[in-house]
Amino acid sequence: MNEQNALEQNKAQADGHLLRFKNQVLGHVIGGEAVVPEGAELFANLSPADNLSLGQVVAGTATDIDQACEAAAQAFEAWRDVPGGERKKILNHLADKITERAEEIALVESVDCGQPIRFMKQAAIRGAANFRFFADKAPEAENGQALYQPDHTNYTMRSPVGPVGIITPWNTPFMLATWKIAPALAAGCTVVHKPAELSPLSAYLLAEIAQEAGLPPGVWNMVNGYGEVVGKRLTEHPAIRAVALVGESVTGSHIMRQGADTLKRVHFELGGKNPVIVFDDADFERALDAVVFMIYSLNGQRCTSSSRLLIQSGIAGDFLQALEARVKNLKVGHPLDPDTEVGPLVHAEHCEKVCRYFDVAEQDGARTVVGGQRRTDLGAGNYVAPTLFVDADNSMRVAREEIFGPVLTAMTFTTETEAVVLANDSDYGLAGYIWTENTGRAMRMARKVEAGMLWVNSENNRNLPSPFGGMKMSGIGRDGGDYSFDFYMETKNVCIAHGTHKVPVLGG
Ligand code: NAD
Repeated sequence: MNEQNALEQNKAQADGHLLRFKNQVLGHVIGGEAVVPEGAELFANLSPADNLSLGQVVAGTATDIDQACEAAAQAFEAWRDVPGGERKKILNHLADKITERAEEIALVESVDCGQPIRFMKQAAIRGAANFRFFADKAPEAENGQALYQPDHTNYTMRSPVGPVGIITPWNTPFMLATWKIAPALAAGCTVVHKPAELSPLSAYLLAEIAQEAGLPPGVWNMVNGYGEVVGKRLTEHPAIRAVALVGESVTGSHIMRQGADTLKRVHFELGGKNPVIVFDDADFERALDAVVFMIYSLNGQRCTSSSRLLIQSGIAGDFLQALEARVKNLKVGHPLDPDTEVGPLVHAEHCEKVCRYFDVAEQDGARTVVGGQRRTDLGAGNYVAPTLFVDADNSMRVAREEIFGPVLTAMTFTTETEAVVLANDSDYGLAGYIWTENTGRAMRMARKVEAGMLWVNSENNRNLPSPFGGMKMSGIGRDGGDYSFDFYMETKNVCIAHGTHKVPVLGG
């Protein structure tokens, strides 16, 4: 099949799946029911590819959230008491259902958020893998430790914290929602999910699949709407015991304030300005591939994107020249085109925000060697040219602020010490990438670079049991494996006397 045919065929298939969203208002899922409140305020969900409407979505209210939280609270005890082995079965069944609908999810997601279909196919499969991984851990989630003393034995057990709020962003909405919701359900928590207003479709498919998979009503609720309204109420609601957010750092600050009165337990996965540090002795070609992939894949709308290139002076000239050629060669296009490497940005406003940095870079004195403009030749969608800034320094806004688009800022360094200083001179601390053939140097760098996750001689490889999260303004807490259960569960210590110790006597 030629490229044009593949695109047309994907479009036709996507249209088939999207028809239902065009024909009926997209509402909430509360207590196992699809809900469109009477007289609800609606907003249009626009496709990044052409800015045409994909349908109307309910802008939920505080009352809608209250209902969802009450449903989650009512369902909690029964779900908590479902044996882990049973939860494992249900969640694995849910994973099967995601796999069955992977193609539909990928097509809908791609049109809804503009991410190229080549990446979204994997995202749906990853979503199923997230469920399987945590499903298999459900039977052991409550297990703790045994801690001995001469006269006492302590043992710990874990129990689900209660109903939780999960708030997700638009950049890879399906995968991120599964990544947060799967461990919550496996732990025995009930969930109210608030997806991003800019990408509501796959969250609806997911909630629908959960009902089909036999999840009891109220265990998984989903409410659409704006962060400042439904997100805010969710983080304030007294029935919600913990809030997991994936989003911007400033949203994390809001949620901390909003949840203060009810002392919410919070878990934040926030923004980043992640350095990729390439030393003179790096494997040139592999480093080049990884540098390009980690900023221009997923439209650069990726929390772990390597948006700051720190390149050692000995290879800087050759590396930047090769990089320039690769960036010029990136294929920007319709997200459903299997050949597309960079698709349209999620929303017109976000696209404008990204484009404003083209002027900022110039004003600050960086040099734009590739891109630096919109791609209006591709139609009415939010297309921008993949962009490379060079001759930058770390004080420039393009080196400090999260742009969240296909935009890379490159700067040079001479010594290892200088690389560490540059890497750490950032408000963020999510991820870092180190390229060197010198093992000792890799280990020294890994110790010194301030980031929750470091990859050495690799792009972003994920291992589900490994901790995922950031330090500084990039987040609080870690996801992955048992780290997720620690967040969604309370640990209780039980101390049992052996009958051998002396109990203090007062008044005797
Ligand atoms: P955002 O913070 O604007 O929105 C995220 C979610 O928070 C949305 O559902 C939004 O409606 C909601 N929200 C907004 N204000 C709220 C409030 N006051 N109370 C409660 N909820 C509120 O983020 P975004 O623009 O959707 O996503 C992009 C950001 O997400 C980037 O900064 C990116 O780095 C970050 N991100 C981080 C990770 C990670 O793992 N660290 C992963 C993906 C994305």
